[in-house]
Amino acid sequence: MFSNVLKKSKTIFVVLSFVSVLLITPILSIPTTAESISAEPVKNIILFIGDGMGYEHVKLAQWVEMGIDGVIEAQNLTVTANVTTYSADNIVTDSAAAATAIASGTKTNNGYVGLDPDLNPLENIVDIAKSFGKSTGLISTVGVTHATPASFYAHVENRYDYDIIESQVIDSGVDVLMGGGSSYFTSGQITTIESNGYSVLYNRNELVADSSNKIFGLFAPGYMDLEIDRDYLQTPSIAEMTSKAIDALDNDPDGFFLMIEAGQIDLESHDWALTNTALEAIAFFEAVNYALDYAKNDSDTIVIVTADHETGGLTLTGNTLNETLPAERITESEKRALRIARASNITATWSDDYHTSVDIPFFGYGDFFSDMENNTLINNIDVFEIMTDYYNDFPLVINEFTTISVLVILPIITSIGLAIYKKKKK
Ligand SMILES: [Zn+2]
Repeated sequence: MFSNVLKKSKTIFVVLSFVSVLLITPILSIPTTAESISAEPVKNIILFIGDGMGYEHVKLAQWVEMGIDGVIEAQNLTVTANVTTYSADNIVTDSAAAATAIASGTKTNNGYVGLDPDLNPLENIVDIAKSFGKSTGLISTVGVTHATPASFYAHVENRYDYDIIESQVIDSGVDVLMGGGSSYFTSGQITTIESNGYSVLYNRNELVADSSNKIFGLFAPGYMDLEIDRDYLQTPSIAEMTSKAIDALDNDPDGFFLMIEAGQIDLESHDWALTNTALEAIAFFEAVNYALDYAKNDSDTIVIVTADHETGGLTLTGNTLNETLPAERITESEKRALRIARASNITATWSDDYHTSVDIPFFGYGDFFSDMENNTLINNIDVFEIMTDYYNDFPLVINEFTTISVLVILPIITSIGLAIYKKKKK
């Protein structure tokens, strides 16, 4: 409902802006400087989705990594909002309906991928990015055909109908796809993927050595290894996949869209596995930090860090440690051992073994967000609106309520005045 209001507001806003421009233009001098002929900025979006990640999951990563008084970088970005997640047919969403809402701006039924509740296919942010000539990439630590990445390219009534999703990912035209799922594809399908111009990669060494712009990475037969089991030499981390994807997509002069999903925060939260949940969330935020470093050197990139829903009803109840994890001079496996030890000092309760309706975090980085008020309540479909507004060079959708109050009042007063004047004339 909120977004319907926003859409109507947007139409009014566009009409009024046009009228205002018509009124104001004759007064203003027409710019003849280089400003008016400068090239359009190349807009990039990097969207992170922590599957099952509520605020307490973020806090869990923070406590293990930075201590109770510390912050992880994502908590400190340009703007923070709270996001409602309900689907079209249930107050508690699944990953398919939630990812479809984020990817396409439409609430749908649980289980549906890229379709509205009447089964009509939806245009998604990947389609929109492509229409601007941008390159696109999707990463998941579960499978490349999992509901979350699939919602950015597929259209299928049942998220578990993998035969359909597999054929749709092959035809998707997405430039960079990485995750698990090598066993999902037949050798014939792999040949087709290669003949579509992709480098098909199966391990970390192949990823490091590759320099192509089209990558199809399948780094496990099914879901990728959990952080607790990951072989650092064989399997890339989510941060390494993110870094490689940005390297490949960054070559496109028209810009890019990249979505990165940490899929196992959710799975470990279903199992109430606190240490694994912490390790998956920390790996996710390492990838976020990499993207933020990139974005800070590129003013035309926004980074969004959000989730699809909360899983487990997690509440942290105690922590006996409060120092920062030593960041330097320790190896990956030493870091892992320290994280496991530190997570064991944290106590928590879980209230559900499925997803909950708890509002989830939205952290936004970039000048684009600078006028957005902190702690606004938004809907998951607004994430799509924000991304399309950014690509279209519209003002930020969430801020339109504020903007509109200034822009609307003057024309309304004018029309009322005109109406009274006309009435008096009659
Ligand atoms: Zn789940």
